Amino acid sequence: MTSCAVPGCQKDAAGRHQPFCVDHYFKLPKAYTGLVTRTSIECDRTDDADRRQHLRDQLAGYIASCIRQLPNSGAASAPQPAPESARRPQSPPCVTAGAPKQRGFFDE
Ligand SMILES: [Zn+2]
Repeated sequence: MTSCAVPGCQKDAAGRHQPFCVDHYFKLPKAYTGLVTRTSIECDRTDDADRRQHLRDQLAGYIASCIRQLPNSGAASAPQPAPESARRPQSPPCVTAGAPKQRGFFDE
């Protein structure tokens, strides 16, 4: 079992495709953790080495974005204690093809 991707956290990751511990998983916005899980699974099932590398890079970026969402991660330069419900989750960087279904907003 790997440990949580959050620096300094010693707990075990929640699952094979979820590099955060359960505590951190529930602290993170769903849009972010969902993207991490999705990308991890996609990375796992692709046979294309180039694509896998690309997904791995993306995954690392998403994990970094997640960590920046945590107020006490130490990685955040400007913590923003905005309540999740008060703002729309930002799109994580590097969203390319196979982006999460954030339709609905633009789906007209
Ligand atoms: Zn953790």
